[in-house]
Amino acid sequence: MNGAEIIDGKAYAAGLRARVAAAVPAFRVAAGRAPGLAVVLVGEDPASQVYVRSKHKATVEAGMESFEHRLPATASEMELLDLVERLNADDRVDGILVQLPLPSHIDEKRVIATIDPDKDVDGFHVVNAGRLAVGEAGYVPCTPLGCLMLLKDRLGDLSGLAAVVIGRSNIVGKPMAALLLAENCTVTVAHSRTRDLADVVRRADIVVAAVGRPEMVKGDWIRHGATVIDVGINRVPGAEPGKTRLVGDVAFAEAAAVAGAITPVPGGVGPMTIAVLLRNTLVAAHRRAGVALPE
Ligand code: NDP
Repeated sequence: MNGAEIIDGKAYAAGLRARVAAAVPAFRVAAGRAPGLAVVLVGEDPASQVYVRSKHKATVEAGMESFEHRLPATASEMELLDLVERLNADDRVDGILVQLPLPSHIDEKRVIATIDPDKDVDGFHVVNAGRLAVGEAGYVPCTPLGCLMLLKDRLGDLSGLAAVVIGRSNIVGKPMAALLLAENCTVTVAHSRTRDLADVVRRADIVVAAVGRPEMVKGDWIRHGATVIDVGINRVPGAEPGKTRLVGDVAFAEAAAVAGAITPVPGGVGPMTIAVLLRNTLVAAHRRAGVALPE
């Protein structure tokens, strides 16, 4: 039986985008300009092109200024660094996002380190990772911040809850763990060397799966009533030959039978990422212009 509440990330993300859009006119009046987001795409990776297009569309829909910069796959690291420096210096640009992955001849770390931390709306700069670690205001990576919003929307105060984050990447797992710790959860971070993962997950009131392995987390790993956030996006063969479908890192039907609430894939965490990117850009615009941020 399917007992869990399905957490509708698509609806929450739509609401967040609407709240961001509603705050833009007052910012325009106060600052004399719109919030601006610059997105840089290097090369022709099809998935990255789709992401960049949807970020552009969402930015414009929110009433913000979108600056799109496309460089060929052959662009040198120096060309990209020069572009980032120009965007750092451009007052109309509040947020800078360099779409990853970059071609292999470009050092991603160096590029991210060149972004002004106060325009780093992706939250990938080490200064922002440090701010998150010590509890200072900065920019938090969009996907884990979106997961936290969904958790707080469902559970309210997270204080004292046992949270297990599976995955320790710099863009999802580690910032997710830091956010949950800041909410006073008791946090366990599991990874590929974790022993008895099923037993570790069984102790959790909150499970966040960010692994990249289709349906790895089984229903009998989930504690009755737990809240399950599935970050995974995995493409697997579909029912019909030649067709594919998306699944998460959690075996959804099994887990939904025991969990209290669960995010679906697609339609759970996925839509939150762009909505939070817009929110981070709005925050950056207000901070940079010295304008008070609405709720
Ligand atoms: P990474 O590949 O960077 O990290 C995966 C993590 O999972 C690593 O820490 C790894 O451990 C751990 N891991 C791998 N295998 C196992 C295992 N068998 N048991 C336990 N842990 C394991 O992935 P990301 O964090 O970038 O992404 C994770 C998933 O989230 C992917 O499916 C990705 O597509 C999705 N994603 C979705 C987003 C969205 O919704 N908008 C945004 C970003 C990611 P170790 O460190 O030991 O190698």
